[in-house]
Amino acid sequence: MSGLIIKGNTCDWEIICGLEIHCQIISKSKIFSGASTHYGADVNENVSFVDAGMPGMLPVLNEECVRQAVKTGLGLNAKINKHSVFSRKNYFYADLPQGYQITQFEHPLVGEGFVKIDLEDGSNKSIGIERIHIEQDTGKSIHDISPTKTFIDFNRAGVGLMEIVTKPDFRSPDEAGAFLRKLRTIVRYLGTCDGNMDEGSMRCDASVSVRPVGSNELRPRAEIKNVNSVKFVMQAIEFEAKRQVEIYESGGEIEQQTRLFDQNTGETRFMRSKEFAHDYRYFPEPDLLPLDLSDEFIAEIKSGLVELPDAKQERFVKEMGLTPYDASVLTEDRETAEWFEKAAKGHDAKKVANWMMGDFFAMLNEKKISLAESPISPENLGALVELITSDVINGKTAKDVFAIMVETGNTPEKIVEEKGLKQVTDTGAIEKIIDDIIASNPDNVAAYKGGKVNLMGWFVGQVMKASHGKANPGVVNSILKQKLD
Ligand code: MN
Repeated sequence: MSGLIIKGNTCDWEIICGLEIHCQIISKSKIFSGASTHYGADVNENVSFVDAGMPGMLPVLNEECVRQAVKTGLGLNAKINKHSVFSRKNYFYADLPQGYQITQFEHPLVGEGFVKIDLEDGSNKSIGIERIHIEQDTGKSIHDISPTKTFIDFNRAGVGLMEIVTKPDFRSPDEAGAFLRKLRTIVRYLGTCDGNMDEGSMRCDASVSVRPVGSNELRPRAEIKNVNSVKFVMQAIEFEAKRQVEIYESGGEIEQQTRLFDQNTGETRFMRSKEFAHDYRYFPEPDLLPLDLSDEFIAEIKSGLVELPDAKQERFVKEMGLTPYDASVLTEDRETAEWFEKAAKGHDAKKVANWMMGDFFAMLNEKKISLAESPISPENLGALVELITSDVINGKTAKDVFAIMVETGNTPEKIVEEKGLKQVTDTGAIEKIIDDIIASNPDNVAAYKGGKVNLMGWFVGQVMKASHGKANPGVVNSILKQKLD
């Protein structure tokens, strides 16, 4: 059970939460114009007459944006609607030069689907997707340049958005957090959105209401707008749910409203009483034909889909023998999964996973570098594991070799050869070392034979030391046992 129950004086309360996520579509040009979507361009550099809402300009649908949204729908196990319709959503705002937004209303491009989320206690849950529609983004108002004026940058106006709407399936902030992370992983795998919440390319609204545990009613909800990190979404849901419970417990009522999350205080505050769909006077967009997709168009996108994280995770468990936990960590992003597969190719996959999630990730963290900047190539990590499994070096020497690989970028074979680190499996050589140690430590030999069997560890240590760490520990153990017992 991952639901969060809030204790009240009159009863226990549960959270009902749904999310709406605006994802900026990765495409070279905007959804209804040829202007560039390049992030970080100079102010108002990428604005065509269409984006600026000039009279008489006509929008032309960018097929690539449709392709990307269909791909995303397929990635969320959703139904693709072959027939969808663009609508005008009318409202006035300074960063919306047309005075309306072209979006989809009654007939969205993508229908119902689902996403599997993995929770910390090892359980999983399916979250329903209600719909995905495509629409244009607004410009950006900048309030902090002048104390008396607001400046507007229209570079973002007309960038394609996918609005992903979930069912009200979340019962706790943790579930919402797990969903956002999973969604981000999926769109990144698909290459349809870069998922960077801090840059605003993925923005989340959360609808929150509460009800007594056991009831089926749906009470008025508060919608918290544009929260820009997973952590903040979780904080906002928790704060808002507790706020509503307090009001109900003290005899008050909640009205449908829109609220803002203040990341400095962790609180939500009133923005406006919530508008309803009829306030926007939606009507079919007269400048665009309905969108009709062929079966071939959808089939072609389907056949080009990459392997998604759930499928990859399952394959890592079934075919490579990884634990579900290890598989989930290694499939969290595509680069990591591909790096791992390259490293594991032809080697003991489980051992490679251990090395990668242990010493290797620790090294990246310590150096504050990304996977792409790693001084160790995947092939070389695989080769290092191979040297261990084929008994060329032991685990202890492998740690030293790993450190030299980080410093030099050399292959482990070269390092082992140059430094003479091959482990000694030659029983004759090891036997000779053992004989010397037994001969020069008669007291400990007597003590061992007298019952102090944990001295075995001391003997092993002496042999390893005398062999400069190169003796095969298995061979050392078995010869020592033979000689002492
Ligand atoms: Mn929207």
